[in-house]
Amino acid sequence: MRLRNKIALITGGNSGIGLATAKAFIDEGAKVVISGRNPETLAAAEQALGADAVALRLDVTDAAATEKAVAEAAGTVGKFDIVFANAGIGGATPLGDTSLAQFNQIISTNLTAVFFTVQAALPHLNDGASIILNGSVHAVIGSPGWSAYAASKAAVRAMTRNMASELAPRGIRVNQVTPGGTRTPIWSPMAPTEDAMSALEVRLGGMSPLGRMSEADEIAKAALYLASDDASNVTGIEIIVDGGMTSAPAGAKIFRPA
Ligand code: NDP
Repeated sequence: MRLRNKIALITGGNSGIGLATAKAFIDEGAKVVISGRNPETLAAAEQALGADAVALRLDVTDAAATEKAVAEAAGTVGKFDIVFANAGIGGATPLGDTSLAQFNQIISTNLTAVFFTVQAALPHLNDGASIILNGSVHAVIGSPGWSAYAASKAAVRAMTRNMASELAPRGIRVNQVTPGGTRTPIWSPMAPTEDAMSALEVRLGGMSPLGRMSEADEIAKAALYLASDDASNVTGIEIIVDGGMTSAPAGAKIFRPA
């Protein structure tokens, strides 16, 4: 049991990577507070996770509500040892066809809310806690039409480093998981059918040497390492789970001899 007696907060714990991480943490002995906006998926996740999960309805782009909800949750379950600031949204913002509201929505969810989630949690964190932010390979791959998303995730990478320095005096570690394309509901708007999802899998998988998308529980295992005492002297880093897409791109199938 690597997280025995630990209490974790996972934003976006009602879906995809956050839900898989909540399961992994509970399997290792943690009690987990999950948050999200959707009452149906929140209730379903809380039921699926069992007695060690508590669901919190919260829009993380509302900093005042986040501060209040996190304080109330800590009052109920106790001080946190782990925060996984995971909630995020995808979405294209092509040049020439993007409104200010669309751009701001991505930045406020994926960047500003991550900062304010950590700020809200800080008074309720035990010294020696582990904070994990969720980045993306988009920070470095230069995908056309995804400027706001990429900028938000590159900024998260910078913030991981800043927060790691800033919170070190309390022994709080701050690290990041950086997923490549991962099979979760975030892709539903772009790939609403099985066929579209298979086509996406071929396209994204084809960009990496290992040739496939990640599964949510593969990201969860990286988060579990960073959350646990196994990573007790690790801070400011990212663990990239992308089949080698960013570190060995020339290994992708398209570059192999026929
Ligand atoms: P999902 O869509 O499955 O999960 C996203 C989660 O974020 C949901 O639980 C959603 O809950 C929550 N969320 C979104 N906006 C808000 C908000 N304003 N307030 C509160 N909760 C919110 O996607 P993933 O699991 O794939 O995404 C998790 C993280 O992983 C994101 O940060 C994403 O950018 C990152 N990521 C994902 C990749 C992938 O290919 N899947 C690749 C790289 C990074 P609700 O809808 O109930 O609000």
